[in-house]
Order: sequence, then C-alpha cells, then structure tokens
Amino acid sequence: MPDTRRSIGFAAAVALVAIALAWGLWEAVQAPVTLRSAPPAVMGTECELKIVVPRHRSGEGRRALASAGDALRDVEALMSVHLADSALSRFNAAGANQPVELPQELLRVLWAAKRMARASDGAFDATCRPVVRLWKDSAKSGRTPTDEQIANALRHVGTRHLALGNGAASKRVEGLELDLGGIAKGYAVDQAAELLQSCPGATGGIVNAGGDLRCFGSAPGGGPWRVGIQHPFREGLCGALSVTDAAVATSGDYRRHFEIGGRRYSHIVDPRTGRPVERTHSVTVVSMGGPGRRPSATDADGWATALSVLGPAGLERIEAEPGLEALIVTGTPARPEVHMTRLFRLLLRADIRLD
Ligand code: AMP
Ligand code: MG
Repeated sequence: MPDTRRSIGFAAAVALVAIALAWGLWEAVQAPVTLRSAPPAVMGTECELKIVVPRHRSGEGRRALASAGDALRDVEALMSVHLADSALSRFNAAGANQPVELPQELLRVLWAAKRMARASDGAFDATCRPVVRLWKDSAKSGRTPTDEQIANALRHVGTRHLALGNGAASKRVEGLELDLGGIAKGYAVDQAAELLQSCPGATGGIVNAGGDLRCFGSAPGGGPWRVGIQHPFREGLCGALSVTDAAVATSGDYRRHFEIGGRRYSHIVDPRTGRPVERTHSVTVVSMGGPGRRPSATDADGWATALSVLGPAGLERIEAEPGLEALIVTGTPARPEVHMTRLFRLLLRADIRLD
C-alpha cells in the first residue's frame, strides 16, 4: 500500500514538472520578438522596417520583412523619374495622344494623384515636372528662371492634360511629364505595411521610409509607437507623436532644397505660379485608421506636399477629410508660427517646441 502511494506521489510530481516545463516552453515560443530590416536606400532615402511577432512566428516575420523590402523597390522601379527604364519614364518619353500601356499599380497611383489634384484645387499636381526641372536646371546655371521660361513650362502643366483609361494613359498636350515624388513614397510605404500587417501572428510593425511611415498595433515592449517630428530650423526634434494605427508624412524645405545665388529654394513648386513655395517650412500630416478604414500613407504624403503649397489656409480642407490631421510650421527661426488642425494636439506627447 505505501508503495502504491509513493508511486502516485512520484507520478504527480513528474506531471507537475512536465506541466511547468510545457508552460515555460509555451511562454517562450509566445514571447514577442522584434525583427528589423534596413533595405538599401529606396527612393533616395534610408528605410527601416520592424515587425513584432511571437517567437515561433519568426520565420514568417522574416519573410514578411523581405517581401515588404521588395515591395518598396518594386514601386521605385515603376515610378521613379530618376530611373530611365521605369514605366513612368517610358510614359514621360512618349508623344501626345498616344496611349501608353502602363502597369495597374502605376495607374492606381495616377488616379490617386488626380484625386489629390482635385481635392487640393491643383496645389498638388503630378504634372509639375517641367517646372521642377526648370528650377533644378536654373540652380545648376546659378540664375533664377525668367518669367517667360516659367510661363513656357506652365503650358505643359495641369492634371487635365493627363488622360487615364483602361490599362493605359495618354497626354493631351505635347511636353506633359509626370513626377510622382510627392506621393509615390507614401504608396510604397502602404504596400510594404500591408505585407507586414498580413503576417500571421504580427502584433505590431512599422515601415519608415525617411520619415514617411505607417505603423500598426503595438510598438516593441507594448504601447503606442513614438514618432518624432523633425525641427524645421535645426537638428533634432520639435515634438513627438504617440500613435497606434497611423501613417505619418512630413514635407519640408529643410529636407530637400536647392540654392540659387546663395538663396535657398524649396523643392516643392506651386503649380499655379510656377515658383517654389516660400512660406511653409514644414508640414506633418497624420492619417489615422478607424473602423473599416486603414491609415493611408499615400494620402498623408500627398497632403503633406499639397499643404506645403496651400499653407495654413489649407488646414480647412484637412478638417473636412475623415481621419486626417495636420501640423504646419511657418514664420522664421526667430518667430516661428505653428498651425494645426483641432485634433492634432491630441496625438502629441507634449507641446511642439520651436526654441
Ligand atoms: P514631398 O517631399 O513628398 O513633399 O515631395 C516633393 C517632391 O514632389 C518634389 O521633389 C517634386 O518631385 C514633387 N513636387 C514638387 N512640387 C509638387 C506639387 N506641387 N505637387 C506634386 N508634386 C510636387
Ligand atoms: Mg508628399
């Protein structure tokens, strides 16, 4: 009898140890790990991707990171004006009234660019390439373009001159050329973020292409993602956002600009005047996800460029767009002015500081 009791006790102890071991193992495989990749510079900018997955899903997580990196490069290969063999460059090289067959993805972005042009009353205009090129060439020669040169360039600008059809696009005027630099990075970020988000078990992730980013779920260690806002007048940050499901894009003259005769000009042009924008130094747009709505880095990117042209007066339009909030910095380093939509403040971790 005592022997039987001892064997039962022994069996119970073994079972307990086994349960504890299994529990420990279960905890270990379920523990979240953060995987990271930094694909080589895409669209002229550094990129960083992160995904948070349970340890036993690490293989899937790594594959999702690789596919997301490929997606960024695929968008660049289709839509860069700097690559002579991109589908966009092929369209730019074509003559007027000749339908050019284009990949669906590029057409999708061209439709988005057309919608942005309409929503911003032409402040965003993907047909601005002749004007952008005129100013860039002037920077090389060291002389600002003449009024006549600007008027000539503007003759080829206007989204109404771009006809989009089923599987093809065509130009309604000779000399029309597209530049998707104001929206394609956002679109690329969306494609990559969707791939991370569909990874089985993913509880969080972020795709950051040089400050244009989209995140979902929780950051490593839990809680919301912290997104810094670059100070427009000096190194460092002027604020930080706390977001979970969101896309954030920033346009600023401190980021990319050129100089003519010692004067700094923004790389963003006002398609209505043919001149670089002057008053707006930095624009940050946040697109938030909500019930039945994913955040859109495409919209955030497009609107950041459009608001650079429209200035603070454009904030009214953002107030009318569901899920969008924006911050604009104008003024001078000595007297900076901060403008924001009503709810932008709620996304900030602390007040914007421009000192
Ligand atoms: P972003 O940094 O997103 O504001 O994009 C700026 C880039 O978009 C410029 O370098 C140009 O290639 C292009 N761009 C400049 N002005 C405009 C404009 N008004 N609308 C659309 N794209 C523009
Ligand atoms: Mg943009």
